[in-house]
Amino acid sequence: MKQIDILVPCYNEEAVLPQFYERTCAVIDSLPDYAFTFIFVNDGSRDRTLPILRQLHEKDARVAYVSLSRNFGKEAAMLAGMDYAEGDALVIMDADLQDPPELLPDMIAWWEKGYRDVSARRRHREGETFFKKWSSHVYYRLLKKLSPVPVQEDVGDFRLLDKRCVKALCSLRECQRYTKGLFCWIGFEKKEILFDRPPRAAGKTKWNYWKLFNLAIDGITSFTTAPLRIAAFAGCFFAFVAAIYLIFIVLRTLLYGEDVPGYPSLISLILFIGGVQFTFMGILGEYVGRIYNESKGRPPYIVGESTKEKK
Ligand code: UDP
Ligand code: MG
Repeated sequence: MKQIDILVPCYNEEAVLPQFYERTCAVIDSLPDYAFTFIFVNDGSRDRTLPILRQLHEKDARVAYVSLSRNFGKEAAMLAGMDYAEGDALVIMDADLQDPPELLPDMIAWWEKGYRDVSARRRHREGETFFKKWSSHVYYRLLKKLSPVPVQEDVGDFRLLDKRCVKALCSLRECQRYTKGLFCWIGFEKKEILFDRPPRAAGKTKWNYWKLFNLAIDGITSFTTAPLRIAAFAGCFFAFVAAIYLIFIVLRTLLYGEDVPGYPSLISLILFIGGVQFTFMGILGEYVGRIYNESKGRPPYIVGESTKEKK
């Protein structure tokens, strides 16, 4: 019998966990040809998430949990779950029922047909602001242009991964993870199925614009050094324009002598060049910061307690 693990990162999900468990169990009970196990990763929740997980584990032998020592973020929580997964396939699902478990049979069917990475693509994005949809669209277009590996748009972390993919993902140990990009980076045969993403069943979203913005920067800096190249090209361009302007000014002064001092043009040019320099220094800093963070070689997460042995 093939074994399928269901990986669920949970951060303050007391309001939805029982519902999630009930609904997912109903689905997996209808698939008797597979042995399912749950791997819940408690990402340093401050509510009753961990006690609920302990209860579920006592009640149901299929439930395992890994509890991180503090909140490490969803990216690290997913890696922790993958490190503990032993099945032939792994399904990553959010705890808030935004990833409907009813899609499981379909995903498994495609996996059986030979696809190694079956992801669910959002058909519509309900319950999200116009600004969020628009900014995400623009961001993915930009990332696709800049990055050498194609990143899937409108595809979240909800997917079924073959054990080969899981092994590949576990071998990538970077701390500032952008898992969405890593899924594409590892390759393998991919299949996208469409679904309508419902709003959160209960509880509150853990994301805010600041976190999303940071993830977006991680996405770019971990997959492409194109901004550095753009900065270099732009630097050359400004230097070239400045050189031509210099020649022009010298010639004009030689031919016509000095007239009114060009204070406004001078100050605006200084401000402009200064702004450009700061921007490029910031870009450079982003990459240096990444090197610094990764060079410390810290593990991406620390486990507090778990019911499972690491494989
Ligand atoms: N999550 C996590 N650690 C965090 C933030 C979120 O493990 O620091 C989990 C959360 O419990 C949920 C999933 O990641 O299962 C998606 O989070 P959420 O629903 O808040 O994000 P959204 O769907 O709004 O993008
Ligand atoms: Mg959600």
